Amino acid sequence: MSHFSYQNGVLNAESVPLSQIAAQFGTPTYVYSKAALLENFHAYADACRGRDALVCYAMKANSNLAVLDLLVREGAGFDIVSGGELLRALAAGADPGKVIFSGVGKTVEEMKLALDKGILCFNVESIPELHRLNDVAGQMGKRAKVSLRVNPDVDAKTHPYISTGLKANKFGVAFSDALDTYRAAARLPHLEVAGIDCHIGSQLLDDAPLLEALDKLIDLIDTLAAEGIHLHHLDIGGGIGVNYGAAGDEPPVPVGEYIGRVFQRIDAWRAAKYDGKPIKVIFEPGRSIVANAGALLMSIEFLKPGEEKNFCVVDAAMNDMMRPTLYEAWMAVQPVTPREGKALCYDLVGPICESGDWLARGRELAVQPGDLLAMMTAGAYGMSMASNYNTRGRAAEVIVDGDKVHLVRRREKPEELYALETIIR
Ligand SMILES: *Cc1c(COP(=O)(O)O)cnc(C)c1O
Repeated sequence: MSHFSYQNGVLNAESVPLSQIAAQFGTPTYVYSKAALLENFHAYADACRGRDALVCYAMKANSNLAVLDLLVREGAGFDIVSGGELLRALAAGADPGKVIFSGVGKTVEEMKLALDKGILCFNVESIPELHRLNDVAGQMGKRAKVSLRVNPDVDAKTHPYISTGLKANKFGVAFSDALDTYRAAARLPHLEVAGIDCHIGSQLLDDAPLLEALDKLIDLIDTLAAEGIHLHHLDIGGGIGVNYGAAGDEPPVPVGEYIGRVFQRIDAWRAAKYDGKPIKVIFEPGRSIVANAGALLMSIEFLKPGEEKNFCVVDAAMNDMMRPTLYEAWMAVQPVTPREGKALCYDLVGPICESGDWLARGRELAVQPGDLLAMMTAGAYGMSMASNYNTRGRAAEVIVDGDKVHLVRRREKPEELYALETIIR
């Protein structure tokens, strides 16, 4: 069920009209539904109930503290990709014992911080990273738990910018090098080889490539076990997609079905080869937790009819929402208060001085200047990718809970944007 729906002719988030939020907090503003967020998380948590499993929310999708806090209280772990994200997760009350650290470029400082806080595991992506982590752990008198991110070389059939599991990608250790890399890791004294992980891409609508990757990880775990390297967990990454609502789009596989198939395979494998002894399973979902829990609320500044195109100039821009221009992503745009009248075909653009500053193209809209629009399914990779380009303060963020609205990040003020800068004399 969508938690954004029209009630009495006005688009609401749960029970709150978006027009009320615009009046109170201005625009552009990100609006999140608490119920949607929890529902999405529970699709994972419920499918994992009774299992040795951990759902590590990939917080780069949306790292607002209030979002993290809601998930912490539901028992979520976190998949982080920087020291900054670790501090952010801890500030939201995350249990460091449920944090895994992904990414190809971990610095010495980030490794020290993560070891000091006692995270669950480092997802290591290269041999030099193994050596760096071994050195840092040795200096601190610790042993770092590691998992190798292997690249199963399956085609996730998604946009090239969000496909990560092919040989040509920068991520992970090539499948053919994985065994040697594990052998190298097992010899390093300050590392404890704990698991294996992969993450093949994002916005996957079908789980076939994920299950194919899982089969490859399973084979590798058996090969390692035969060599005396016994892994304690298997992390299959994130990547389940959402329905952005474009015409002809396939709906994504339901999370519960996907997870059911994962456990079906794992159970059969463990029964056949390990007397049924379970292995801990980790998921790293990002988009599927937050995307459809959010909308970007904006106002129309001007309508600019043209010979070839009509432009609808709004007060949100590519600095607020990068996905369209970065990935050519299609995102639904809905009027907050639909009006009668003739619809025209518009390109929705922001005020930034770039031709790439567009949010949607070729949309039929019956609108007037001053009208409010909502860009839907904007909760993931929206605010977390926002920038201050053109000295634009980042948008406000609110969470709606039933009929209540909570401001969870106030709008940035222009003077804050240059406060860290100094003039030379
Ligand atoms: C981004 C990322 C995820 C989350 O991906 P989604 O497609 O948002 O689910 C999970 N794991 C890693 C390593 C990532 O980089």
